[in-house]
Amino acid sequence: TSFGYKEVREEEKSQMVGNVFTRVASNYDLMNDLMSGGLHRLWKDRLVSELNPFPGMKHLDVAGGTGDVAFRILERINSVSRRAMRDAFEENLLEETKIYVCDINPNMLNVGQKRAAERGFAEEKSLVWVEGDAEALNFDDNSMDGYTIAFGIRNVTHIEKALAEAYRVLKRGGRFLCLELSHVDTPIVKDLYDLYSFSVIPAVGELVVGDRESYQYLVESIRRFPRQEKFAEMIADAGFQKVEYESLVGGVVAIHSGLKF
Ligand code: SAM
Repeated sequence: TSFGYKEVREEEKSQMVGNVFTRVASNYDLMNDLMSGGLHRLWKDRLVSELNPFPGMKHLDVAGGTGDVAFRILERINSVSRRAMRDAFEENLLEETKIYVCDINPNMLNVGQKRAAERGFAEEKSLVWVEGDAEALNFDDNSMDGYTIAFGIRNVTHIEKALAEAYRVLKRGGRFLCLELSHVDTPIVKDLYDLYSFSVIPAVGELVVGDRESYQYLVESIRRFPRQEKFAEMIADAGFQKVEYESLVGGVVAIHSGLKF
């Protein structure tokens, strides 16, 4: 295909992704911290500050697994000024806020729900956990103010379908934001990054969770994912306007965004 994706057969890919996340679910947080040196936290903060969440919003976080992005959105909404909070409260906006966390893997959702309880969000009515596929979302057309997907779209079998679904469920004026591991171009950084991802990541995977293969797969999936410009084109092809991206740490990750007009 135009995206060079057929190398891994499609069913094989979906199955592999399922297996990987079932195996890594319980160690997911630890591995994220180890492999990114804690940086994934800052990247997610950045994603959410770009989103600019507001009380009363309807938001969909796809591939939201462990709730990392959803918790940040909620915390941000809850930390708005007292006055804004009072106004929002009077207008019942806080109760109307809905953050849907959608993930294809129930194990990841379970981890997320457990973490929600640990963070004091057990009674939080704004958080809604939904099992579902990014390629065929169970949400109405034009129903969401925002859509985020963090470290998720790389694992989806048909990226174009996921983008089309994101476009469909967003309201006009709604914002699409994607955080994903991307491509490094700077020569020396690239050499270091290659060394790190091909040698260190699978080794850490083996050492910490006894699973080299899953992490090998993750590294390969990064290589196969479209480059920043190409992915921006795909987002625009799905119908989004004002498509932009920002590379962080020289391209180790990128945040892409688009608006539905
Ligand atoms: N967003 C979380 C974060 O940033 O910590 C989790 C990212 S995790 C690397 C990728 C998640 O994508 C997994 O929870 C996996 O189950 C989910 N996933 C994979 N394919 C999916 C699909 N087609 N639809 C929805 N979720 C999917």
